[in-house]
Amino acid sequence: MTFLFASFQKKTPENKVDHSVLPNVNNNLTNNQMKEETQYDVIIVGGSYAGLAAGMALGRALRKVLIIDSGNPCNKQTPHSHNFLTNDGKTPKEIASLAKQQVQMYSTVGFLDALVTTGIKTENGFEVEIHTGETFTATKLVFATGVKDIMPNISGFAECWGISVLHCPYCHGYEVRNEKTGILDNGEYGYEFSSLIFNWTKDLTLYTNGKSTLTPEQTLKLRKHNIRIDEREIEKFEHTDGYLQNIIFKNGIAASVKALYARSPFVQHCGIPELLGCELNDDGFIKVDPAQKTTIPGVFASGDNTTRIRTVANAVAMGTNAGMMVNKELIEEEF
Ligand SMILES: Cc1cc2nc3c(=O)[nH]c(=O)nc-3n(C[C@H](O)[C@H](O)[C@H](O)COP(=O)(O)OP(=O)(O)OC[C@H]3O[C@@H](n4cnc5c(N)ncnc54)[C@H](O)[C@@H]3O)c2cc1C
Repeated sequence: MTFLFASFQKKTPENKVDHSVLPNVNNNLTNNQMKEETQYDVIIVGGSYAGLAAGMALGRALRKVLIIDSGNPCNKQTPHSHNFLTNDGKTPKEIASLAKQQVQMYSTVGFLDALVTTGIKTENGFEVEIHTGETFTATKLVFATGVKDIMPNISGFAECWGISVLHCPYCHGYEVRNEKTGILDNGEYGYEFSSLIFNWTKDLTLYTNGKSTLTPEQTLKLRKHNIRIDEREIEKFEHTDGYLQNIIFKNGIAASVKALYARSPFVQHCGIPELLGCELNDDGFIKVDPAQKTTIPGVFASGDNTTRIRTVANAVAMGTNAGMMVNKELIEEEF
């Protein structure tokens, strides 16, 4: 869960569509079916936890669904996922694979390993195009495309992300409880983060990576709890296979830490909802109502792309809700 710890970065043209992954098109429909089956009730863009949950609800509602996924979920580097009932401690892939296996049991749901590159409104619904140029149409669209965390320019940070550089104590704090821990932050957020992480360990240093912007009151309060404040500028992280050993400062001195918490800015993983006209809120999430409807009729969104509450459990809950609400809307239009 990352609700406190992420900030939105304004979108740049190159992140409108994620070109970092261009999967081989590998779908579960046969080639002939694939040619015939280009019109769906619902296309779900993004087939991780939120997308698969939406797919299951819609499959169980007998809807003809295509889930298109580019295989790049935000937690792919984390060795173990925690805090999701029945799957606590499993790898992210194990959870997603079992979910996909279960959704595949519903014969009206098809999968496509592909990157959706664009989407347009048509007379009767929507058309999406994948990176090979093939197009598919549907009456409704669900975007379960997540967000992309932007790594800061500190050597070693990206390699440690999700392994020993952590975004969320509820996901990973238990495993490093009572360990020598750092927080990379400053000011108000740094103060809030420190008071939160103090719940998991008392051996805590706030690394401000430059002059502290804490207020005198905040500084006093942190000191009262024996939380150290270190203003030295950081050069790099020394690590072994993502497991942090030392923070190396610009003056060449090293500080050993077992784990470090950090916030990362993010962008929407997929820019197509915005191309279709879906509004984002001030925090950079797709605006949705309680039925997961975006501001564009017929377009739904669920999971990390809509909320600060970033957990597998929440993504699954929102995806399930999206699936049910899309089906409800289709029933209202068809009945
Ligand atoms: C490092 C890290 C560790 C975490 N650890 C935990 C944990 O231990 N426990 C926990 O509960 N939560 C954890 N989380 C949070 C959790 O991973 C997310 O809340 C969850 O993955 C959100 O699911 P989602 O389906 O919304 O998005 P994602 O899982 O990010 O999936 C989005 C999917 O959409 C696809 N996609 C995007 N754009 C396109 C496109 N144009 N065409 C086709 N496909 C597209 C992507 O390839 C991806 O597969 C962690 C997060 C991070 C970053």
